[in-house]
Amino acid sequence: MDTVVSLRTLGFRRWYERTLIEAHLWLITCFLAMVLALALFETHNETLVQAQRLPLIVGAAFSAIGAWKSYRRYFRTLRCAEAVGQAATCPHCGAYGRFDIVTPCTDETADETRAIACCNKCRGNWRLSLQNHV
Ligand SMILES: [Zn+2]
Repeated sequence: MDTVVSLRTLGFRRWYERTLIEAHLWLITCFLAMVLALALFETHNETLVQAQRLPLIVGAAFSAIGAWKSYRRYFRTLRCAEAVGQAATCPHCGAYGRFDIVTPCTDETADETRAIACCNKCRGNWRLSLQNHV
């Protein structure tokens, strides 16, 4: 789901919590894929039949690639949550995380979306830069 849409539907606090959970699930996936890659590589080394070695090394390679992609996704998701979390403080009254997305701006790029946030406490507006982590 797009960052702006999910921020609008969930609100900042739920979105932040879910994004951090998602990031750490990617980290766990990375760890499990690395363990799988090492196990397949170790089994590959101990297998004497040549016909069984190729699928094991291919599986180990795909697991390593999956671990790398999970690692990158972990950092992208965490960086997105951190960027929004840093911009979540109202510059007018200092309230943290109490805002609604009023309008997404039209000057979007592939990695970044701008949106106007409205403070729930003082009704002040400010501009948010949101990175899409998906
Ligand atoms: Zn405010």
